[in-house]
Amino acid sequence: MPTSAILPLLNELNLIQDPTQVAKLSKDYYHFSPVLTSLLDDKVADLVVRPSSEAEVMQVVKACVATKTPLTVRGAGTGNYGQCIPLEGGVVLDLSQLNRVKWVKPGLACVEAGAKLAAIDKITREQGWEIRMVPSTYRTATIGGFIGGGSGGIGSITYGQLADRGNLHAVRVVTMEDEPRILELRGDEVQKVNHAYGTNGIITELEIPLGPAYPWAEVIVTFDDFMTAARFGYTLGEADGIIKKLISIHAWPIPSYFAALQDALPEGKTAALLMIAESSLAPLRELAKEFGGTITYEKTAQEAKKGAALAEFTWNHTTLHARNVDTSLTYLQTLFPYDTEMKLLEHMYQHFGDEVMMHLEFFRVHGQVCPAALQLVRYTTEERLNEIIRYHETQGAFIANPHTYILEDGGRKEINETQVAFKAQVDPYGLLNPGKMRGWLERDQT
Ligand SMILES: Cc1cc2nc3c(=O)[nH]c(=O)nc-3n(C[C@H](O)[C@H](O)[C@H](O)COP(=O)(O)OP(=O)(O)OC[C@H]3O[C@@H](n4cnc5c(N)ncnc54)[C@H](O)[C@@H]3O)c2cc1C
Repeated sequence: MPTSAILPLLNELNLIQDPTQVAKLSKDYYHFSPVLTSLLDDKVADLVVRPSSEAEVMQVVKACVATKTPLTVRGAGTGNYGQCIPLEGGVVLDLSQLNRVKWVKPGLACVEAGAKLAAIDKITREQGWEIRMVPSTYRTATIGGFIGGGSGGIGSITYGQLADRGNLHAVRVVTMEDEPRILELRGDEVQKVNHAYGTNGIITELEIPLGPAYPWAEVIVTFDDFMTAARFGYTLGEADGIIKKLISIHAWPIPSYFAALQDALPEGKTAALLMIAESSLAPLRELAKEFGGTITYEKTAQEAKKGAALAEFTWNHTTLHARNVDTSLTYLQTLFPYDTEMKLLEHMYQHFGDEVMMHLEFFRVHGQVCPAALQLVRYTTEERLNEIIRYHETQGAFIANPHTYILEDGGRKEINETQVAFKAQVDPYGLLNPGKMRGWLERDQT
């Protein structure tokens, strides 16, 4: 699309037009999926705008609406499903300069959307608080991008997921209209834009709840067999007296991909990577002993500041490390139903063997401890990948498909009519991240 029409309207803003830079800022981690790689490789914006205030965001919106130019919001571009890749070119709106922490109160903070999660924590920790849950991309990802495209992560074993009521208090949203408005959504209203891939509003500011910032020790416990490790993970998840932030279980050979941790990962063993409040280490050691686990790595919070962060081997960082060794590997995202015996999980572990390697993250789903799996898959063909997905679904496991960029076809499975209706109000021309929301593409316009 020619940029000549819009450029004069973006006067004095920070523009990036260098083709290499624009290409880079048009991409995320979609390449974890061979399916998305072939669909998205050639998608690129026409230019990138990097505003440094909400007023500048509104100027960009006006310019895009006036010229009917698509606009795709970008935080740090660490999404996995091509969420921030512009399918129809246009402007990428890079919000990384909107990064202030405006205030911190006990249990609550107000932050700008482009603030990085780790940078927010650095400030809130001075008062003894931290973000309740973070993705393993914690050091680079922004809070706006986490709300726009993420789901949960380290901390979810205590606080559940981002979609759970109470995990996002309020947002300020800039609308995509001829005369852009600023809306404040509070309480349940935030669900109108929560996890909507930036298709129905530009979040500029958020009020997020915080949890107590414990000194988190990092621990690895190894086990002779996978199911014992899984049972240990489940029991630790339910152990309300042990304060934890992360329970991440990796069947062999996944630990072999973690180069920096090799001294703590014996050949053939399943590894549990844990973040535990220092004050809970003693009961954790007892629990590990009860399950026949061996503690091979233990760092205090202070020691953990140096060297590799254990969290950066968990959640989707596991996939990253594995793909550094073998680029043919891809992954799945599976939620196993609540079952204290984890029978379906055990079945899948045995059924697929080495083709689908088990990586579990325990978290809370409506208060119950459940294993989510981010299995590593030895990819052969798209047909085989779909066969594996179908098998899981027919057996009763829920797959949040990471091989689609369509919002509803990933984890949600159904159209969120409220989000579609909100888009009709705030983005009447359908310019925000076009092509990602199926409910909008298929809406009844009569
Ligand atoms: C190695 C790796 C590990 C990961 N681990 C996790 C994990 O543990 N948990 C998890 O949930 N995710 C995980 N992810 C996915 C991703 O890192 C997170 O969701 C992250 O929070 C995205 O933040 P971002 O700033 O990079 O967002 P981006 O990728 O830039 O954007 C994500 C989506 O949100 C939209 N968006 C961005 N900013 C705004 C805004 N201000 N207003 C409206 N829409 C907006 C974008 O348009 C896009 O659709 C992982 C990804 C990788 C590559």
